[in-house]
Amino acid sequence: MQYPEPIAKLIDSYMKLPGIGEKSATRLAFFTIDMQADDVTEFAKALVSAKRDLHFCSVCGNITEEDPCEICRDKSRDQSTVLVVEDPKDVMSMEDMKEYHGLYHVLQGVLSPMEGKGPEDLNISSLLKRLQTNQAIKEVIVATNATPEGEATAMYLSRLIKPAGIKVTRLAHGLSVGSDIEYADQMTLFKAVEGRTEM
Ligand SMILES: [Zn+2]
Repeated sequence: MQYPEPIAKLIDSYMKLPGIGEKSATRLAFFTIDMQADDVTEFAKALVSAKRDLHFCSVCGNITEEDPCEICRDKSRDQSTVLVVEDPKDVMSMEDMKEYHGLYHVLQGVLSPMEGKGPEDLNISSLLKRLQTNQAIKEVIVATNATPEGEATAMYLSRLIKPAGIKVTRLAHGLSVGSDIEYADQMTLFKAVEGRTEM
């Protein structure tokens, strides 16, 4: 027996989410049908708005409603340091720590030959352009994750940036190998930034 089309479509939509198989998708679809109509409308609006109203900051590559983003517009932040992360979630983790007051650059991933991801697929040229045009930047902290791809990306960036006379540092290995910044607790993250070493 087939489900009526509206619920079959909803199940198909939930199955597009990561880690959601047919069983979970079916459970979520039936849960949605039982929700209050207002809550379902809010949920649908939030989905559409997240996609429609968020953009990438033209300066740092972070997600933002306004371009440039809040952090890039904030002149009270330390303009001499740029912390390079893999994705917007890492910016959130760093900001939650409340100990870093410089700027960011979001790569939108890491170099990964396995996945066919090269330098041109990441926000690297915009970083180099930023460093060339903004003389105030004195240090780039590479905070890619402690994975083989993260390390390779850090090395690649270091080789590109150091010849310009800009200091390049890497987070201390308080973060265990293979660990994600996203999941590090705030103290670990603080120690990793504090103990950063020059590349
Ligand atoms: Zn920005």
